[in-house]
This record gives sequence, C-alpha cells and structure tokens, in this order.
Amino acid sequence: MSVDKVLAWVEAHDKESLDNLIEWLKIPSIGTDPAYDAETRRAAEWCRDHLHGSGFEVDLVETAPPGGRGQPMVFGRSEAAPDYKGPRVLFYGHYDVQPPDPLELWDNPPFEPVIRPAEDGMGERIVARGAEDDKGQVAMFLAAMRGWKEVSGLAAGGVPITVMIEGEEESGSVNLERFVQTHKDELGKCDFVLISDTTMLGRGRPAITYGVRGLVYTEITLHGPDHDLHSGLWGGKCPNPLNELSKTLAKLWDDDYRVTIPGFYDDVRPLSDEERALWKNLGIDEQAALKSVGLGPDGDVGEAGYSMTEREWARPTCDINGMWGGYTGEGAKTVIPSYAKAKVSFRLVADQEPRKIFDAFKAWLESNTPKGCRWGEVIDHGLGLGVTLPVDSRELRAAARAINRASGAEAALIKSGGSIPVAGLLKQDLGLDTIFMGFGLEDDRIHSPNEKFEVECFRLGTRSHAVFIDEMWKLGE
Ligand SMILES: [Zn+2]
Repeated sequence: MSVDKVLAWVEAHDKESLDNLIEWLKIPSIGTDPAYDAETRRAAEWCRDHLHGSGFEVDLVETAPPGGRGQPMVFGRSEAAPDYKGPRVLFYGHYDVQPPDPLELWDNPPFEPVIRPAEDGMGERIVARGAEDDKGQVAMFLAAMRGWKEVSGLAAGGVPITVMIEGEEESGSVNLERFVQTHKDELGKCDFVLISDTTMLGRGRPAITYGVRGLVYTEITLHGPDHDLHSGLWGGKCPNPLNELSKTLAKLWDDDYRVTIPGFYDDVRPLSDEERALWKNLGIDEQAALKSVGLGPDGDVGEAGYSMTEREWARPTCDINGMWGGYTGEGAKTVIPSYAKAKVSFRLVADQEPRKIFDAFKAWLESNTPKGCRWGEVIDHGLGLGVTLPVDSRELRAAARAINRASGAEAALIKSGGSIPVAGLLKQDLGLDTIFMGFGLEDDRIHSPNEKFEVECFRLGTRSHAVFIDEMWKLGE
C-alpha cells in the first residue's frame, strides 16, 4: 500500500477537505445547550456519514440515561486487512463546541466559517467556533481516512480503528464513563488511544504530548456562628469564618511553595535528569510567557527547585480558585459572616491518585479546624486521573515518525499542565495509554471569540494522520 499515493490524493483534494470542514463548522453543535440539541445531533450525523463514506461501519449510539439528556456518540470501526499484524487504534475526538458568547466580539458570525489571511501574513486561517477545538482536529483524521479509502479501497487502509467521537466533551462528558463501561467489549479490543485535541510547540514545531495532569476540584465551607453577626458587637469575641478560612488555607503552602498536606508528594514520579535536559533543549521562552500575561521576571513564582516548565509538566499544584462569604456587594456592611466558602483545586501528576489526594485534603482540613468552627461537606466537583506515556513506547515512536515524515521536522515530545479527563478514564477503566497528536497553536483562541485554525496546521495534521496509518502497518512487520 503506497502512502505516497494517499499523500498525493490528500494534496489534490485539499479544497474538498477544507470544504468538508467548513460544512461541519456551519452546524452549531453547542452540546451543553438544550436549545441546540437538534443541531448537535445533526453534527453527529454529519460525522457519521463522513466516516461511512470512508468505509467505516458506524452508528450513532444514544448516551442519555433513562429520563435524562445525552448527546449521541459517533461510534465506528474499520476492520483489519487479512495480512495486518499491528495494533488496533482507538481514535477519540469530539464534535460539540463551546458556546460562542460573547457574540459581539466575533469579526464574523461564529457559525459562518471564513478562510482569511493571517494578520501577520503567515498563510491562511479558518475562523469559526470549533475551527480547531475539536472539529478542525478531527477533520484532519477524517480527510486522511478518506484518502486511504479512495486510494486503497479499504477503510483506514486496512488498519483496524475504533472511532469514538462524543458530543459532551465541552460539558463535562457526563455520560462517557457509562458509555465506556457498556462498550467495554469493543473498546477493550483496542491497544492504545489517539487523540487530536492538543497544540504544537509553535509554528512549524510539531509535537506529541505524552502526558497531561490529573485534577481534584473541591468546594469547602467553614461554619461559625449560626447567623451573620454585627461586627461591632461580636468582632473580637467569636471566630470569624472568613478570617479563619484565610488563615487555614494560607497554611497549604510552605515558604518554598510546597504543598503541606501530609503524603501529598508520596506518589509523585520524580523528574529524571534526562527529561529535564530534554525539556531545556526545547528552548521554551518562559520570560516571554510571563510577559504575555502581564508579568515581569519576578512573576516566576512556584515550587522551589524547578523551572516554570518543570512545574507545569511534572509537579503537582494546589490553587484557590475562589473564596467568598459575608458581604461582597457595593459599599460597606459591617458583618461577621456565619460561614465562609472556597473552591480549592489540585493538579496532579503521575502517579498520584485523585481519590487519595481528595481524602488527604479532607483529613488535612479536619486536623486544621479553627477553634470554634466546623467544616461543612467537602464537595467533589470532579476527580480526574493524569496520564503519562513512557517516551520509549512503540506507538509513541510510530506517531513521532509519522509527524516527522509528514513535516520534515522532528516531533518535540512535550507535556501539558492541563487535564484531559477522557485519557485518565480510558487508562483507569481499560488500561489504555493515550498519544496526543494535536496540531493547534497556542494562539488559536479556542473557547474564545474568533477561534481559528491555521490551514497549514490542518494540512500538516492531515498528512500526519495519513502517514500514521502506514506506521501502524509497519508496527506489525
Ligand atoms: Zn474545548
């Protein structure tokens, strides 16, 4: 099977592939909003039909629990050619998009995609909600699949792929775990997961993301007196929950910005000298990153002994995301609040267990209960496992070769401080590792007005996915 013919097909049908993406982007699949349920379903149908046209056996599978809401899963598969000996791939993506608000900040309506030149003269870009996240990235895979079908006559060129494209990623993937549980038979046949929903290191610098962080998100309440009090009559006579919560949470870090919860670092995989050297060689400009958020060099604040990149990719963190209580309206109100609340979250790294960290935080709160106060329920707003793939994994190497052959550039191996819960879920429930082969850029404005995807990135991703099929064949040889 000649991958060159597929690449030639892809190049000759570039306009067709872009037109397909534009057609898909016109469907406002705002999965979170019930008013858009019909459109969201139409986007799923569009994807199903496209895959079907590339020879996949594919269905829409309902995900709603009895009496509840759920967006359909585009669930498909291709069969292995008789002489294929490589792995079965699970391709995951999502067809739902973020709401486009605020609409007035868009230069063109979010669901009327346009292709226009970049302001800096660096080629063209597609501007629309979903242009990158994640329709644009999934469309690269779809275009590559179409190329293989046209050239070889086989779905995915004879490589067995299970495709799972969901419509709830932007709203918490609420029905995903149950879907995974009820489709364990099919999903369990896969050897690893491929996701295109991440970024490159920069323009012309393709990358594979081999790890993302886990997440524990909590909401806590500290109770004091049973109703709000007059601060003149009661201030200094009884505990003020806001004072006490501030004092308590301030103890979460020591002077080196290390988290003080006992056992917090127990399962953290140490950063190897080799990894440190590799990351240093990536030439990431940390000062420029600080500058981009309005900070100077003294903004490099975090756990002692690690660079900014190391802290993002290899170290766990704790953050207060919000804190409130008492009076927060206009003007003054002299009040001792009866309670104080905070949202406290943790980003985790391999091999920390979210449940263990959640429990350790709860125990820490108990043992630091301020005098005269008591804790309310510690609410769990989501636990997600982080994942890290060994850099010498054969699938990861195959993906890196695919990018290399498609771009002529070496794929950088990077990590992300963000969290992609589906990867943790598939690791936890099925033992599957994930390779993130994404082609976005940091400035693609995903989730923001004027989201865009560079046409060059789209082309590179399409070629990479096409060559990836060839690399899967080679793994079996
Ligand atoms: Zn997103």
